[in-house]
Amino acid sequence: MLAIKNITLVMKDHLVPDAMLLLDQGIIRDYGELRGTPVPAGAQIVDGGGLFAGPGLIDIHTHAGGGAIFTDDPGRASRNLLAHGVTGVLPALYFSLDKAGYLAAIDKINNAVASGNCPNILGCYMEGPYLNPKFGADRQNNPWQGPIQREDYLDILERVARTARVWALAPEREGIGEFVRTVKAAIPDIVFSVAHSEASPEQIESLIPYGLHLATHHTNATGDLPKYPEVRGVCVDETVNYHDDIYAELICDSRGIHVAPYMLRLIEKIKGKDKLILISDAYISDAPAPPGYDGVTDINFDYAGEIAGSKLTLEVACRNMMVHTGCSLADVFRYASANPARLLGLSQFGEIGLGRAADIILVDSWMNVRQVIKNGRIIQSETE
Ligand SMILES: [Zn+2]
Repeated sequence: MLAIKNITLVMKDHLVPDAMLLLDQGIIRDYGELRGTPVPAGAQIVDGGGLFAGPGLIDIHTHAGGGAIFTDDPGRASRNLLAHGVTGVLPALYFSLDKAGYLAAIDKINNAVASGNCPNILGCYMEGPYLNPKFGADRQNNPWQGPIQREDYLDILERVARTARVWALAPEREGIGEFVRTVKAAIPDIVFSVAHSEASPEQIESLIPYGLHLATHHTNATGDLPKYPEVRGVCVDETVNYHDDIYAELICDSRGIHVAPYMLRLIEKIKGKDKLILISDAYISDAPAPPGYDGVTDINFDYAGEIAGSKLTLEVACRNMMVHTGCSLADVFRYASANPARLLGLSQFGEIGLGRAADIILVDSWMNVRQVIKNGRIIQSETE
């Protein structure tokens, strides 16, 4: 049993100062104000040093961690993210893989989960293969731009059926309806996400009944469809903003390049505190920053000079969100823990509560991670 004293608890919508947490056998046994919570004899006592204690972070969309791509070295990526407070993660598998590449990548993730050495991997995030090549999905070399055919995806679906939690797609792709129904039949609780798309509101809305409840990196790699000259079109971003049952992923970098600070504030206002999900979308690229981006160190570019994901970890994205929008520490725990847990239906994660998973991080007021606890066990004491 672990008793963490001298902390401020970060609850969903309030703080509990001068508090403590009792963790036992992987779950939260008790929590509350220090005065009213007895410490059982024999408990290991940890001084929280006046830090904030909140639920471990959940990054539902990232390709890499700690200089390692998940599909190359899932163990290294998983460990690094854990040290950054990411106690839950969905490695993302990208459309640039061909069929054999997808199968090999899925095997890597499945084996990593089965090994027990990657306790924070909660499943995987299928980013493709059926995206719109026109929107950040490699128009020239996209191996999946031909017609959608069952014989191309059935093997992938079968291999990933036990691990896929999110499936991102472009609703305007011809034949996507049958694909969605086939995936839904195999994985009933799958979350579909509109991604790399210029779909119309009707095309997106037609998939909501099947579980389209997410927008992949909202406002990035989406099109717009002007209906009349000089009248603003309505496309993916507007549809996502309109629908309360669609969560919006946001990549929040330090300069507001993926999403401008003003846009972050607008989206926070429209979507509300329960529908934002911060992601890192981390990737690794050694392409230089193109002109105009001098000194930008937390995002990647490809060799065409286009944005290609970030170098962020999620706690840094939280800090950036606080800077750009003025939101609170409690708010970013919602955006990076409670909301992703709810989207995925993982009720044991995302909030401090009796009987919930003992996945806890201690942070300072700027989301610098000082201690990580996974399944009730201290992982490490300090990130660099
Ligand atoms: Zn993407």
